[in-house]
Amino acid sequence: TQFLHVLARVAPLGDRLVLALVEDRTHEIRVDEVRRDFVANVSHELKTPVGAMLLLAEAVQDASDDPEAVRRFAERMQQEGDRLTRLVQEIIDLSRLQYDDPVDSPDPVEIDEVVGAALDRSRVDAENRKIRLTSGGAEGLQVLGNEKQLIIAVGNLVENAVRYSPEGTRVAVGVRQRDDLVEISVTDQGQGIAEPELERIFERFYRVDPARSRETGGTGLGLSIVKHIAASHGGEVSVWSVRGAGSTFTLRLPLHPYRPGRPSGNGSQV
Ligand code: ADP
Repeated sequence: TQFLHVLARVAPLGDRLVLALVEDRTHEIRVDEVRRDFVANVSHELKTPVGAMLLLAEAVQDASDDPEAVRRFAERMQQEGDRLTRLVQEIIDLSRLQYDDPVDSPDPVEIDEVVGAALDRSRVDAENRKIRLTSGGAEGLQVLGNEKQLIIAVGNLVENAVRYSPEGTRVAVGVRQRDDLVEISVTDQGQGIAEPELERIFERFYRVDPARSRETGGTGLGLSIVKHIAASHGGEVSVWSVRGAGSTFTLRLPLHPYRPGRPSGNGSQV
């Protein structure tokens, strides 16, 4: 369907010709729909942890003579609070992205810095879950863009890799140059993602297993943020996954043309 909006009409010329200025508002109306869905989803997502916390607060009051139960309820309240904090942060990240477009004032960004900072964000979680974080590949590559946003993008991929992997596995970040692109890949040995889900995981609030995502502090927004950041840097994000064996998410970004860096060669992919 196309939504056409008549902006102005010119009186008939003679008795045959009518000139009208018509604007195609299809895109605008779609954007509106997406925004409405987003607001509905956000309200639902915010209400869930708040509702859970209120119930838990009630339960704590009822169980005041059972210290073990109080401790358990308090722990769950804390989990819900953490998730709420993360959700609010991701909603802020996402809305900031709408007006903080890196093409407006791009800076040269060192990929090594981005990968280092992204890994730092998951070090504690990885340690707690006995997951080994490694990085390797080409060094000294630069892209043009916004460093903070790129750290969020790679950071979200690493965070997911850790979140959806069993204890004792490895999460590897690899950097390589391919022609005039840099490829940053995040590979895990986790549960993998089945074929029909692969297309949908980049949608806002889509989760393969909502209960598991919720338990582990997921919000369903991480990958849609990655996709947005990739696109606004002129790049893309893709995924390759085998159910039960693991996944590789790859972020491809145009290299900063003035410093092509060293090619990574074979075997740099970790
Ligand atoms: P969430 O906050 O739930 O992790 P994301 O948008 O980051 O939301 O990811 C969407 C869904 O994609 C997740 O709920 C999970 O089901 C799936 N997913 C993302 N990354 C991985 C991964 N590395 N391994 C397995 N599943 C993943």
